[in-house]
Amino acid sequence: MIDFRSDTVTKPSQEMREFMFNAPVGDDVFQEDPTVNELEEFAANYFGKEAALFCSSGTQTNQIAINVHVQPGGEVICHEESHIYKYEGGGIAKNSGASVRLLQGDRGRLTLESIAQWMNPDDVHYPKTQLISLEDTANRGGGAIYDVEEIKRIRHFALENGLPLHLDGARLLNAIVATGVNPATYATNFDSISVCLSKGLGAPVGSVLIGTKDFIKKARRVRKVFGGGMRQAGMIAAGGLFALKNNVERLKIDHQNALELERCLVQLNWVERVYPVQTNIVVAVLKDASKRDLLIGKLKEQKVLAMAFGPGMVRFVTHLDISNAQMDQTLEVLKALTI
Ligand SMILES: *Cc1c(COP(=O)(O)O)cnc(C)c1O
Repeated sequence: MIDFRSDTVTKPSQEMREFMFNAPVGDDVFQEDPTVNELEEFAANYFGKEAALFCSSGTQTNQIAINVHVQPGGEVICHEESHIYKYEGGGIAKNSGASVRLLQGDRGRLTLESIAQWMNPDDVHYPKTQLISLEDTANRGGGAIYDVEEIKRIRHFALENGLPLHLDGARLLNAIVATGVNPATYATNFDSISVCLSKGLGAPVGSVLIGTKDFIKKARRVRKVFGGGMRQAGMIAAGGLFALKNNVERLKIDHQNALELERCLVQLNWVERVYPVQTNIVVAVLKDASKRDLLIGKLKEQKVLAMAFGPGMVRFVTHLDISNAQMDQTLEVLKALTI
């Protein structure tokens, strides 16, 4: 199968497995796992931030960050299609007792104007706005990237109003590789950043949460309370460390492959349009929305897996387990397909 459903389907390479197998370990709840410590230090340094925390998933890093930033009864401003709201099982309400102000915005991104409009005044009637959360790249926006100037404007507003700013950077490295923006620019503009190691970077498990020493100290406590303290976690952290050291630059290959898919898809008579590709996610909107599942079924018969992504929409995600030969084969399948 040629699996474009998600960049989470990657399997650790032989080299990564060996690195994991040989990783020195210790009890991470005592902060004595040398590999976890090395990963946390490496991730913090990569972004020029003080500290980092290795967690089991991106949902966990996001939920921990939200819990550190907000009090029960507070409110989080985020996009209506953001992962923290849409795909984390209602965690903002359940874990942190906070409400959400859901905003619209082009391809999963917020603007300063909409945020400023919906920040609540200090009035007993309203929930207290306590956090702004952005997603970069934006999954539901088809891997769309924020203009870094917009991030800076939002940061300026957040600082003026004493609001922390969180970044769900599950695919932040895709944005960094695509734009060439210095990772430290993100670090200076956000109070906390969550980065997934288990997507395009190819590690089997884990995410890192990045912030100040003080923030990470609080986050470590929340992780424990959420049941996420791990012991000889270096076994899995090693995969993440290997990924950060070896698999970042090659994300450009995934972006090239996504562009090739876009170029092919826009020419097909059953495709209405394709979200302009910016990173590794390709979203095709079908002319006949009712044929979505038929299309996915026909592709599967030809050993190409794609994912339903809403009414009449299909998502393809490129990643490091897609070979050149598989790309060629996929383009042939797409060109020959009729629905
Ligand atoms: C995948 C993803 C996450 C985290 O997902 P986990 O499966 O919990 O690791 C968070 N935000 C976005 C935008 C994602 O795509």
